[in-house]
Amino acid sequence: MLLVFTKKRTTTCFLYLGEHSLPFEKRTYKFTSLGDLTKHFKRKHLAYIKEGDRL
Ligand SMILES: [Zn+2]
Repeated sequence: MLLVFTKKRTTTCFLYLGEHSLPFEKRTYKFTSLGDLTKHFKRKHLAYIKEGDRL
């Protein structure tokens, strides 16, 4: 079980992994490619960060 997290190049969203209020299957959701993960990240997280907090 723990080996899942030591795989090189995982395509799970690490921000979701740390989000313990989310359902397990969502937290461990695997994107089909790194491009997909990047898109998700920009849409879900970067947009959100921009709204609430300036970097
Ligand atoms: Zn995410």
